[in-house]
Amino acid sequence: MTTPDAPALPLRPELADEVPYGAPQLDVPVLLNVNENPYAPSPDVVATIAERVATAAGTLNRYPDRDFPALRADLADYLSVESGVRLAAEQIWAANGSNEVMLHLLQAFGGPGRTAVSFAPTYSMYPEYARDTHTRWVTGRRAQDFTVDPESAVALIEAERPSVILLASPNNPTGTALPQATIRAVLDAVARVPAVVVVDEAYAEFRRAGTPSALELLDRYPLLAVTRTMSKAFAAAGLRLGYLAASTALVDALRVVRLPYHLSAVTQATARAALEHRDSLLAQVADLRAERDGLVAWLQRQHVSGRPFQVAETDANFVLFGTFPDRHAVWRGLLERGVLIRETGPDGWLRVSVGTPEETRAFKDALLDVIDQEEQ
Ligand SMILES: *Cc1c(COP(=O)(O)O)cnc(C)c1O
Repeated sequence: MTTPDAPALPLRPELADEVPYGAPQLDVPVLLNVNENPYAPSPDVVATIAERVATAAGTLNRYPDRDFPALRADLADYLSVESGVRLAAEQIWAANGSNEVMLHLLQAFGGPGRTAVSFAPTYSMYPEYARDTHTRWVTGRRAQDFTVDPESAVALIEAERPSVILLASPNNPTGTALPQATIRAVLDAVARVPAVVVVDEAYAEFRRAGTPSALELLDRYPLLAVTRTMSKAFAAAGLRLGYLAASTALVDALRVVRLPYHLSAVTQATARAALEHRDSLLAQVADLRAERDGLVAWLQRQHVSGRPFQVAETDANFVLFGTFPDRHAVWRGLLERGVLIRETGPDGWLRVSVGTPEETRAFKDALLDVIDQEEQ
């Protein structure tokens, strides 16, 4: 008996050549590739989480609270401490990572016949949300120093008339934070379009002193949405909890498109336990910022083939540096020495996350060794 050929899958044609997104997950000693916080939760944080999860486990026969008001109130409380901006719980939304929050935004405000705009180089997931929601994707270019020029941004918005604009600040993979004036120029332009302006502040807690948060603009701009995450500064990438602050009307629109009960009782309990311990979880942020500034200064002193390194200004917990004629060789050389970084960004550049002092040392030693070899 011969097996008939399996019928072709009726896959959407635009997905035919697509591969699942993701940085390589490799088992090496020094992981500096996905901007995680290198410090694991302390035993007292783990104990509180275990206790709250045990309580939640006793209720798992029931669906979780669909609108999770307690968690939203805790997040609002955290933001008021972190940035001084006081928000109501109804102005907060959350989902399984800010990636899901962003998908909710595209589901509610993008869609067929609509356009989303961002400024490259930027986060590589944005075009995927656009694709998955049948939203047309348009990118403007960032300047040589990876800033966004307000005048050309406004011109692009007026020409393309998007319904969603995605601004990462600090930007990934460059680390660039946008000045408040640039964000305000975009917000002033969209009132006439109109478009939702998403400022993705996944790395906000790492910003340098004097760099403001777009949260400060929320009371004046009803089309603004600021996204945050517990994945980076909060040392909880494994939790999958991202959130957003916006007007109540904007949040209510997201409630329409979310899946029912999208945030599990276990996630809600864990996130609330982690927020209770925010002082301990965020304690390392100051150290990581200092570690970053030290790493930037060190990279600025290095040379390759007689040329000084280029190092992008960064308000995040990673540094983009280069440029290398063969960046893949440098990336692979580091990997062979047990250090995994990320081959991303414009041609010739590499991105390294800020780790512990020991991890930074391992990275520096490996990089010097690789460059030495390359130059022989
Ligand atoms: C890491 C990151 C996020 C956070 O994603 P989560 O889904 O919350 O883990 C969001 N935006 C950017 C630009 C990032 O680099």
